Amino acid sequence: MSPRPAWSTRPASGTCSARTCPGATYRSGRGWRSAPGTGWCWTTTPTARRTPSSLAGAAQGFASVVLVTIGTGIGGALVLGGRLVRGAHGLAGEFGHMQAVPDGLACECGLHGCWEQYCSGRALERVSRVALGRHLDGPEVTAMALAGDEVARNAFASIGTWLGVGTAALVSAFDPEVVVVGGGVSAVGDLLLAPARVGLRGALQGTDHRPVPDIVPAALGPGAGAIGAALLARDGRP
Ligand SMILES: [Zn+2]
Repeated sequence: MSPRPAWSTRPASGTCSARTCPGATYRSGRGWRSAPGTGWCWTTTPTARRTPSSLAGAAQGFASVVLVTIGTGIGGALVLGGRLVRGAHGLAGEFGHMQAVPDGLACECGLHGCWEQYCSGRALERVSRVALGRHLDGPEVTAMALAGDEVARNAFASIGTWLGVGTAALVSAFDPEVVVVGGGVSAVGDLLLAPARVGLRGALQGTDHRPVPDIVPAALGPGAGAIGAALLARDGRP
């Protein structure tokens, strides 16, 4: 596998000699900006080559990944240093029940204002119902959105923005290289992910001096969980 770029510190007044780095710069989204005085640059290092990384799908090759799956609710997973983070009790990744709105909508978990009440298949149906005055299920709203219906597209824009806002909290906490979004609701692609990228950038602190990870679609479809489980079993990863 080819080495992946990694952040390295450099003297603020120095000049990086790496071919990919024209000096003291930082990578912002897909672009480059100078960052005079910060001492940060984007380069490749032998250390990065040895970092364990995700093994398959859209996260393949990345060592730090946030996965958000959007179906009826929100699921998720976190990979740091190439290792799946399970938590002390195997409960890590319950991103959907992070509180997004104090005293917000009631959640099936018994709390109020959970993220998945604003970004999920159920949220999509609720937003659509309010706008249309009648109930449609998620696949029906998705079909309408893909056919160009403005109301359905606005419903995806709403939950997409919430996807970005919640993702900003995860990015602040874990500083991933990439955010992968899967689950049935993500089948609309950029109708969901484009507003999510805008929402992420708007809710993330320090965007003038930190890289903002891209939000990309998952690649393995409904079999992703089984593939991941098989890889974990094969490699005996904790
Ligand atoms: Zn909840």
